[in-house]
Amino acid sequence: MIKIQKTEADRPSLTFSRKPRKGLDKLEEATKALKEHYYKHKAEIDKNGEKFEFDPDLYAHKDIKDRLKYLQHGKCCFCEAKIDHIAYGDVEHFRPKAAYKQLESDDYRYPGYFWLAYDWDNLFFSCQMCNQRHKKNLFPLLDPDTRMLDPEGDLSIENPLFLHPVHDNPENHIVFIEEVPRHLPDSIRGKATIESLGLDRPKLNEDRRSSLQHVIDLINIIELYPDIPEMKEYHEQAKKYLAKTIFDLMKPNAEYSLMFKSLYKQKIKGIIEN
Ligand SMILES: [Zn+2]
Repeated sequence: MIKIQKTEADRPSLTFSRKPRKGLDKLEEATKALKEHYYKHKAEIDKNGEKFEFDPDLYAHKDIKDRLKYLQHGKCCFCEAKIDHIAYGDVEHFRPKAAYKQLESDDYRYPGYFWLAYDWDNLFFSCQMCNQRHKKNLFPLLDPDTRMLDPEGDLSIENPLFLHPVHDNPENHIVFIEEVPRHLPDSIRGKATIESLGLDRPKLNEDRRSSLQHVIDLINIIELYPDIPEMKEYHEQAKKYLAKTIFDLMKPNAEYSLMFKSLYKQKIKGIIEN
């Protein structure tokens, strides 16, 4: 997981082409309708809950999905796997739109963050595996009493346990020990994100391992026979190649770039600069 650069200016505009709503923004209009419905029946909805209906043709519209995919370099916002070639990928809601749970064992609470169903800041491109886990509508907060269930309320008072791919920098919470993600000792948010999204699931670890292997092989070559003078030139060449390789692998468009950044900081930087 890495920080994603995404602003409101990046959102594609979907507008009505016919009167009477010609030129109006479809996502904004849909959000307005949901809010109007909520405020009209607020007492009833707050008391008994309600399952809101949402339109996937809007939040997962091709233009929206394509733009998210582009901004995320074709990678899942959580596990950083490249999705393009193996699956279609999903448009994921960071704050769950229909219902939410504080704990896995809780019952669903309705409605969820319905007013964010079409909110650009809340939408991400994700792989099906991460989305399915996330779709369980688990959205724990550090302090459940701060949960903001009013569409006009201030969401910044909530402290979600899951890392937000735009507002948080996952690098400050998650590191990798070779292919396995670990939370930093004082980050309960890194811990919750790894555990709830299954970022250390075996299949993913296996896939990361195969991406990592040739870099590890290269390191092993460099560390072989350190005291033999005849090997020096050979080691220098390998170091140059390692430097070029790792800088490409740490770029935001590279698959599993955070894993390579961790390895760079822990080991490769020292080897290259030595
Ligand atoms: Zn994923």
